[in-house]
Amino acid sequence: MSRIPLTDPLVIEHLRVVLIESPIRMARRQGVGDVKGTVKRVLLRLTTREGIVGWGEAAPWEVFTGTAEGAFSALDTYLRPLILGRSARSVRALAADLDRALTGHTDAKAAVEMALFDILGRAAGLPVAELLGGRVRDRIPLSFSVADPDFDADLARMHAMTAEGHRLFKVKTGVKSHTEDLAHLEAMRAAFGERIDLRVDYNQALAPFGALRTLRDVEVFRPTFIEQPVARRHLDAMADLTAALDTPILADESCFNAADALEVVRRRAADAVSVKLMKCGGMLKAQALMAIAETAGLPGYGGTLWEGGIALAAGTQLIAATPGISLGCEFYMPHHVLTEDVLEARVPVEAGDVVVPQAPGLGITVSEAAIRENARVLAEA
Ligand SMILES: [Mg+2]
Repeated sequence: MSRIPLTDPLVIEHLRVVLIESPIRMARRQGVGDVKGTVKRVLLRLTTREGIVGWGEAAPWEVFTGTAEGAFSALDTYLRPLILGRSARSVRALAADLDRALTGHTDAKAAVEMALFDILGRAAGLPVAELLGGRVRDRIPLSFSVADPDFDADLARMHAMTAEGHRLFKVKTGVKSHTEDLAHLEAMRAAFGERIDLRVDYNQALAPFGALRTLRDVEVFRPTFIEQPVARRHLDAMADLTAALDTPILADESCFNAADALEVVRRRAADAVSVKLMKCGGMLKAQALMAIAETAGLPGYGGTLWEGGIALAAGTQLIAATPGISLGCEFYMPHHVLTEDVLEARVPVEAGDVVVPQAPGLGITVSEAAIRENARVLAEA
């Protein structure tokens, strides 16, 4: 480890971690796990010796990467001693040390990395996208997930959203019966025709046995991609479906990180990948994953678990600076699902696109008052 000069103003002197629970507006049925009422996540605030503050957020989902309580404990108990006294200049070196000290907990590690980049950006007066190679896009098409148990409510929402300029909709299939899924896809095409870019996500719901026949029925409705039709471990079945179907297959649960991407490419198990900071453990790791995918000709999609505004700002900066993540993003939580967020102003959405913030760091301002007023603080340290 390189020695940090005593005068380095970017040394992390204070670490605060808050476990919060936020109300959400609608029930979500997503196949692998249902969510109703509230979501939990962990906010991380790092403060340097000279008082520069950086924010991070761990937003796990227990069926994907782990629990919010686990992320809180990882940050408070296991990672805190490795972070305090280190410089925000050493993002890669610190990330390697965190990986050596604690296995898994990619969500907690992503929170640390985004707080470090937030500090670096604020210190340099540059948005994080510019620290990641510079922006290649200013706007990111926003996809909304159609996952309300009440399909009519979703259809009404889609009418309102298309009127505002939204085009991308991802239907959570495989939760209801196949007959219902087909009826809903038909209803959406009948209502919106080709004005919408329709995608479907099975969240691993199908058994390999019979999956091809099911998906051939779905192809009739011309989805842009079919996401994770079968279980994460069934890479051979993913490869068979990728070869057999005209519609591209997108790997989500089958592709957490760069090593998974290598395996997906080697086995031709997908045509595209979903990139999530919570799965891979940070923006630099997401860029490493995308380097493999893009070299093999696989585009990326900006996926999420249950992130609020801080982690989604980091995702926005990442996609702005990563050419291969070209299939849009699903960063709709603060605008459409969370009743309140912890930011003073949400990252703007205009005509169905997320507009990449230009301000230094993550480009957002976190409101301590909003944390107190809008979220329930379950634990803090
Ligand atoms: Mg998915």
